Amino acid sequence: MDLSEISCEEVLGEIEHYLHGELDDRRASLLADHLADCPPCFERAEFQRRLKEIVRTKCRSEAPQPLLWRIKVALRSEWRTRGPGEGTPPKSG
Ligand SMILES: [Zn+2]
Repeated sequence: MDLSEISCEEVLGEIEHYLHGELDDRRASLLADHLADCPPCFERAEFQRRLKEIVRTKCRSEAPQPLLWRIKVALRSEWRTRGPGEGTPPKSG
Protein backbone atom coordinates (compact mmCIF):
# COMPACT_ATOMS: atom_id res chain seq x y z
CA MET A 1 0.00 0.00 0.00
CA ASP A 2 1.37 3.34 -0.98
CA LEU A 3 -0.68 6.19 0.40
CA SER A 4 2.24 8.55 0.82
CA GLU A 5 1.40 10.72 -2.18
CA ILE A 6 -1.72 12.19 -0.67
CA SER A 7 -3.09 12.06 2.85
CA CYS A 8 -6.58 11.10 3.99
CA GLU A 9 -7.13 14.66 5.16
CA GLU A 10 -6.27 16.02 1.75
CA VAL A 11 -8.53 13.50 0.05
CA LEU A 12 -11.46 14.29 2.31
CA GLY A 13 -10.84 17.97 1.84
CA GLU A 14 -10.99 17.69 -1.94
CA ILE A 15 -13.56 14.94 -2.31
CA GLU A 16 -16.29 17.35 -3.33
CA HIS A 17 -14.15 18.94 -6.01
CA TYR A 18 -13.26 15.45 -7.19
CA LEU A 19 -16.90 14.41 -7.47
CA HIS A 20 -17.73 17.64 -9.27
CA GLY A 21 -14.94 16.97 -11.76
CA GLU A 22 -13.21 20.20 -10.80
CA LEU A 23 -9.77 18.69 -10.23
CA ASP A 24 -7.23 18.35 -12.98
CA ASP A 25 -6.43 14.88 -14.28
CA ARG A 26 -3.31 14.40 -12.20
CA ARG A 27 -4.98 15.34 -8.97
CA ALA A 28 -8.09 13.35 -9.78
CA SER A 29 -6.09 10.20 -10.46
CA LEU A 30 -4.19 10.70 -7.20
CA LEU A 31 -7.48 10.79 -5.35
CA ALA A 32 -8.80 7.83 -7.30
CA ASP A 33 -5.69 5.82 -6.40
CA HIS A 34 -6.07 6.73 -2.78
CA LEU A 35 -9.75 5.81 -2.74
CA ALA A 36 -8.94 2.43 -4.25
CA ASP A 37 -6.56 1.70 -1.38
CA CYS A 38 -8.35 3.39 1.48
CA PRO A 39 -11.80 2.01 2.37
CA PRO A 40 -12.71 4.77 4.86
CA CYS A 41 -12.09 7.48 2.27
CA PHE A 42 -13.85 5.42 -0.40
CA GLU A 43 -16.94 5.13 1.78
CA ARG A 44 -16.88 8.81 2.40
CA ALA A 45 -16.68 9.46 -1.33
CA GLU A 46 -19.51 7.03 -2.03
CA PHE A 47 -21.66 8.75 0.56
CA GLN A 48 -21.03 12.14 -1.01
CA ARG A 49 -21.66 10.78 -4.48
CA ARG A 50 -24.99 9.26 -3.47
CA LEU A 51 -26.03 12.46 -1.79
CA LYS A 52 -25.28 14.31 -5.01
CA GLU A 53 -27.23 11.78 -7.05
CA ILE A 54 -30.26 12.06 -4.80
CA VAL A 55 -30.22 15.82 -5.10
CA ARG A 56 -29.83 15.61 -8.85
CA THR A 57 -32.63 13.08 -9.44
CA LYS A 58 -34.90 15.09 -7.19
CA CYS A 59 -34.20 18.18 -9.23
CA ARG A 60 -34.78 16.31 -12.46
CA SER A 61 -38.13 14.84 -11.41
CA GLU A 62 -39.23 18.30 -10.42
CA ALA A 63 -38.07 19.89 -13.66
CA PRO A 64 -40.81 22.16 -14.94
CA GLN A 65 -42.46 21.13 -18.17
CA PRO A 66 -41.87 24.45 -19.99
CA LEU A 67 -38.13 23.85 -19.76
CA LEU A 68 -38.36 20.54 -21.63
CA TRP A 69 -40.66 22.16 -24.16
CA ARG A 70 -38.20 24.99 -24.70
CA ILE A 71 -35.36 22.55 -25.32
CA LYS A 72 -37.43 20.71 -27.91
CA VAL A 73 -38.29 23.93 -29.69
CA ALA A 74 -34.66 25.02 -29.69
CA LEU A 75 -33.53 21.71 -31.18
CA ARG A 76 -36.23 21.89 -33.83
CA SER A 77 -35.40 25.44 -34.92
CA GLU A 78 -31.73 24.52 -35.18
CA TRP A 79 -32.63 21.67 -37.50
CA ARG A 80 -34.77 24.00 -39.62
CA THR A 81 -32.00 26.56 -40.18
CA ARG A 82 -29.83 23.81 -41.59
CA GLY A 83 -32.49 22.86 -44.10
CA PRO A 84 -33.78 19.40 -44.93
CA GLY A 85 -32.28 19.17 -48.43
CA GLU A 86 -28.69 19.67 -47.42
CA GLY A 87 -26.42 16.72 -48.06
CA THR A 88 -28.70 14.93 -50.48
CA PRO A 89 -27.06 13.78 -53.69
CA PRO A 90 -27.93 15.68 -56.88
CA LYS A 91 -30.42 13.98 -59.16
CA SER A 92 -29.02 12.65 -62.41
CA GLY A 93 -30.72 13.52 -65.63
ZN1 LIG B 1 -7.71 7.72 3.10
